Amino acid sequence: MLRWSIATVCMGGTLETKLSAAARAGFRAIEIFENDLTFFSGKPREARAMADDLGLEIIALQPMRDFEGMPEPARAKNLDRAERKFDLMEELGTSLLSLCSNVSEDSSGDIDRCAADLAELAGRAATRGFRIGYEALAWGRHVHDWMQAWEIVRRADRPNLGIVLDSFHICARKNPIPPIAQIPADRIALVQIADAPGLMMDPMSLSRHHRCFPGQGDWPMDEYLEAALATGYAGPVSLEIFNDQFRGAPPNSIARDGMRSLQICGERLDAARKTRGLSPLNPGRALPEPAKISGVEFIEFVTSAAQSPRLAGELEGLGFRRVAHHRSKDVDLFRQNGVNIVVNREQEGFAHSFYLVHGTSVCALALAFDDPKRALERANALAAQTYFGRTGPGEAQIPAVAGVENSLIYLMKETPEGSSTWDQDFQFDAAAAHSGPLKRIDHLSNVVRRTEFYSWITFYKSVLGFTDEPQVELADPYGAFFSRVISAPGGAVRIPLNIAEGGSTGVSRFIENFGGGGVQQIALSTDDIFSFVEQARARGVAFLDIPGNYYEDLSARYDLEPALIERMRALGILYDRHKSGEFFHIYTKMFDQRFFFEVLERRGYDLFGAANTPIRLAAQASEQDEAMRQRRMLETE
Ligand code: MG
Repeated sequence: MLRWSIATVCMGGTLETKLSAAARAGFRAIEIFENDLTFFSGKPREARAMADDLGLEIIALQPMRDFEGMPEPARAKNLDRAERKFDLMEELGTSLLSLCSNVSEDSSGDIDRCAADLAELAGRAATRGFRIGYEALAWGRHVHDWMQAWEIVRRADRPNLGIVLDSFHICARKNPIPPIAQIPADRIALVQIADAPGLMMDPMSLSRHHRCFPGQGDWPMDEYLEAALATGYAGPVSLEIFNDQFRGAPPNSIARDGMRSLQICGERLDAARKTRGLSPLNPGRALPEPAKISGVEFIEFVTSAAQSPRLAGELEGLGFRRVAHHRSKDVDLFRQNGVNIVVNREQEGFAHSFYLVHGTSVCALALAFDDPKRALERANALAAQTYFGRTGPGEAQIPAVAGVENSLIYLMKETPEGSSTWDQDFQFDAAAAHSGPLKRIDHLSNVVRRTEFYSWITFYKSVLGFTDEPQVELADPYGAFFSRVISAPGGAVRIPLNIAEGGSTGVSRFIENFGGGGVQQIALSTDDIFSFVEQARARGVAFLDIPGNYYEDLSARYDLEPALIERMRALGILYDRHKSGEFFHIYTKMFDQRFFFEVLERRGYDLFGAANTPIRLAAQASEQDEAMRQRRMLETE
């Protein structure tokens, strides 16, 4: 049976809030970082009582530093220091002291000296019934790889001395992972787990600021856990994350994210074991399998009666038709082929409160599942917040989970286009046609607050069973932003999640204008973008102005027919190419500086046109600057 644990250092706040957040998220074990005790107003035994009351076992006190290989008198002093730690452990009721490899320039790298020091420490710990765990820090003065730490533990040869494995140090140093499986299980004191993004950075800075939960970064967490557990190790697996963003976030949500990330680690481990005919590590605690997602059933906008005609005009310009009105609510359905857009003007309830905070915006997405009941069970098993809205007599009750900024993600049963599910809630206008040039929703881009980026990645990956691609950095005229594409298996729903570092980037301005994260872009696909744009322009749709230089550059970069480039220039269409695939796309002007549509035509191209993102951002920035200039002129008149 796998036992999950979390180190107090992962979370911000007082020791009390950290312990209760861990327990609330379902943890039964915790590592206590000594600083948390230093800042704690009570006595260590009161911390123990608190942990007991919450059903938390304190599995370790961490860390003891700069111990092994020191010259006298530092060596003797260190042994005294250890006795004081033992006293503390006595009060805390924990039996393991975690020791990090020495970083002091006074220390010796002599392996036998270090082993002798650890043997002595372990001997003293044994008289008190305690164990010592020794961990190689990636930036240790002499010991920085797990193989070195293991050799010292092996030579010290004490039954109560083991190695602490930590995926962070092991991956940061690119240490070999498979040989971990050869360590005898009873010589592993603790298995710690932390992921990190694939940034080129010195290990100490990476460790102190960028560690993240498994699955949020780019490192081989599954391979690591498989190797560590292949030893037969049956102790706790503990999250140890140093990250400023985590400590700045509410501890409850960090503990919940940590638990979710571990639950899906366990799920993947057991899936891998099953294919090898092995028994599960998590018997009886398996999550309901993710339900299969076949697409976005609808996108719901909320707006007011006053703003509604402008939004309807925008949608009709893109070729959507208002085909139905809700039987009991002030809600319209716009449709074009298989794309459904719901426009909600209700004056009460969830959508209206969303409108009051965010203005005209996307308040909900409905994803189509093969088995929405199982999707809901999984969401509950992963502690997602669920929502059941008000419905009229005979109307469909659709469960939802809370998404970014408390928007909703409806869990719907997949339906063939135009099927009766819609008839239950909507009165259709028999005369309204819904064919048009736009065929399907290609992707949606979601802007999230920087502090919530990892949290939403874990949400989509765990609750909805999405997968993610490596993070990319994109240039913005006012800074940089980061994007990571998450998608439902099979690619039926793809969502680039975007965050910004800079104060004035398009992403940051969106967060400011919108009052938080949300859907910024809806990309719709067509089979003939040229005729679509001609018709849409004729209907008065305003597309983003693309500077002429872009097309000069295009003709220099690609061997394209001058007539084709001229046509793109005349219509404002952008172009990208990858291998033999071609991509044509265009953006509408922003609606209230909050969202915009992209229309695209893929010709054997599967990317997102990121090469053109800087030109889009620059054009949107100058559009925003112009809007602001005009507003200021009006104000001064
Ligand atoms: Mg560690």
